[in-house]
Amino acid sequence: MQCIVVRRAQFAASHRYWLPELSAAENIGQFGAGSQFPGHGHNYVLFISLAGEIDEYGMVVNLSDVKQVIKGEVTNELDFSYLNDVWTEFQQTLPTTENIARVIWQRLTPHLPLVRVQLFEHPELWADYMGNGMTAYLTVSTHFSAAHRLAHPNLSLEKNTEIYGKCARVNGHGHNYHLEVTVQGEINPRTGMIVDLLTLQQAIADYVIEPFDHTFLNKDIAYFAEVVPTAENIAFHISNLLRSPIQQLGAKLYKIKLIESPNNSCEVYTDEAELNSVNYV
Ligand SMILES: [Zn+2]
Ligand SMILES: [Zn+2]
Repeated sequence: MQCIVVRRAQFAASHRYWLPELSAAENIGQFGAGSQFPGHGHNYVLFISLAGEIDEYGMVVNLSDVKQVIKGEVTNELDFSYLNDVWTEFQQTLPTTENIARVIWQRLTPHLPLVRVQLFEHPELWADYMGNGMTAYLTVSTHFSAAHRLAHPNLSLEKNTEIYGKCARVNGHGHNYHLEVTVQGEINPRTGMIVDLLTLQQAIADYVIEPFDHTFLNKDIAYFAEVVPTAENIAFHISNLLRSPIQQLGAKLYKIKLIESPNNSCEVYTDEAELNSVNYV
């Protein structure tokens, strides 16, 4: 019986986005505040996923061994370090979140049955790496507040109430929506980035957060005049809004996760969205 276990670890480290072959102005232009001397730091949180058969002792791997390997190979070296200098890999390719995840994979894979390395730079930015060359995933988490009403425009209040319950009440209600945008791309061998993070965040702000925040979705977003703004439909619409701008940044929109409340969330994968695009574009 196959099983995946996840071990958490953490380290605090500093880094700087600075390429010596570029001028100061070019570094600032490309990396913004991340280029500032002498660098800045993060409390990184690492999740190592391991897969295997459950053994006679009821374990995939002995977690105390895993803990020692992660300490010896990764956290003892990275904790309280300046990442750019601590591992030679980061002199070649800058220590972005996605590239740190990739290099941690390389360091751990001789010792552990890895299936995923997930690294949080902070709670709203993390990378996933699954051992596939330079391909990595970066997720940006953000939020907006909006009201909606779940009611099909062609149905009676009675029928809508039957389908949507309290969500069909005529004057609507609101949520603080949490949005996670996951992009897939190739790690640039010099900058360490799969996508320019500042431009990605700007695209999410321009296409989703700014138009959606503090609105009544049914009335303020033209798309929802006819389409009921359930979490599912909002997530599909967001994936359609972001797919092409993210492609223009050289990456691929991989997943949208919309968390409507602690009890209710929805995930849309773009490959599936493409299958359904005839209904949602
Ligand atoms: Zn940083
Ligand atoms: Zn609602």
